[in-house]
Amino acid sequence: MGNILYKEGVNEEVWASEDVPAKMRAVKIKGDGEYHFDPECPTPRVGAGEVLIKVKRSGMCHTDVGAIAGHMNPMMGLKEGEYRRPGHEFAGEAVAVGEGVDPEDWKGTNGLALALYGYCDDCFNCAEDKYNLCRSAVFTGIQVDGGFADYVALPAKHVLQIPGDVSLDDAFAVGDALLTAQHALNLIYAYSTEGFIAVYGGVGGLGMAVIANLLTDIDEEKIISIDTREEFLQVQREILGIHVINSMGEHGPRSVAKELKKLTKYGLTRVVDCVGSGGRMDGAFGAVEKLVQEGNFDKASFEAAMLTEFAGKGTVMDAIAAVNKGGQVCVVGSRDKEHMLFPVGNWMGREVGVIGPWGGPYETAESILNSMDQEEYAPDTEAGKALAMLRGKECPFTKEGFDDGYEALTKGKVMGRVYFNMDL
Ligand SMILES: [Zn+2]
Ligand SMILES: [Zn+2]
Repeated sequence: MGNILYKEGVNEEVWASEDVPAKMRAVKIKGDGEYHFDPECPTPRVGAGEVLIKVKRSGMCHTDVGAIAGHMNPMMGLKEGEYRRPGHEFAGEAVAVGEGVDPEDWKGTNGLALALYGYCDDCFNCAEDKYNLCRSAVFTGIQVDGGFADYVALPAKHVLQIPGDVSLDDAFAVGDALLTAQHALNLIYAYSTEGFIAVYGGVGGLGMAVIANLLTDIDEEKIISIDTREEFLQVQREILGIHVINSMGEHGPRSVAKELKKLTKYGLTRVVDCVGSGGRMDGAFGAVEKLVQEGNFDKASFEAAMLTEFAGKGTVMDAIAAVNKGGQVCVVGSRDKEHMLFPVGNWMGREVGVIGPWGGPYETAESILNSMDQEEYAPDTEAGKALAMLRGKECPFTKEGFDDGYEALTKGKVMGRVYFNMDL
């Protein structure tokens, strides 16, 4: 699996811009529902071919929450007594390089890691430059140590240098949220750039990343954000000028497909689903059981119950129902891992494609950084404002700051994401 990182004691640094301390601050997890803030974690040694990044900004998303909760344990593959440092979306300063890496290439630079990286140069995906799909790709912060720490050692070829004029505040989210979002959009742009585009889960970190990227090249009146948090939707409507739909109606979850059709007059060509809920079989069984117990098990009640269970709660199915014939649904989030239901007639019978991006390629990340360099995300543009919303809540990287950020994210108190400013 991938590259072996952190070969302790094998390679000495060939250049270091500062005295890298032996101990650093880091968050450690085992996938047992707990996290441990360690103020005295050993700093990783920089090995051959590696760059040591002094982390300056490090974003948190629901993947981190899932990793802490144990949902990623099979992927983490930790043995008894081992722990991992999570964090897969970070940027910082290059402060040391290992053997085989030219210090002149790295002195005075800032870099970021892509959440997913692999570069075997041997598999068929690498042959097509789809390094995010490389057979040896690793997930930073899950399979190898990540950025909830002061330092991370990474293979130099996997560190993307950030243009000098792009701030770390803008760049850090490129490694995951902005890259995944842009890659998802590229997949469906290949299909069409006409009509409306809707974003399920629009006020979350990934949803905001999709919207920020969309605003760099699509009119705001063509964008529809769908979510359940009314106050955040209103902020998006007022500041970004996009359409918003609250999928939590007065009587609970509901289908927004009908409202989308009304709003877009059948012009909805693409949906990016950042929630990825397929409607759960167990929810349907529960609903049927209730109807039987109540003695109401007739066709009409059954259909109404199924609509509530699947159309209201299953964003994938709602999205498929909402797009035009031949439309494109890109499922970026994945809420329900089991018992996903797809309405095959709606999906296959109308040639609606369903695509799930898994990170994105380097050239896409580079193009986002270039857009930043061209001021397309400048603070006074809509894209820049959306990027600021995506960035979300700033926290100091302390035990209290981490607790605060974790609570804000897990309780849905923040728009976009939470990030740690190591300079505070
Ligand atoms: Zn993430
Ligand atoms: Zn490969």
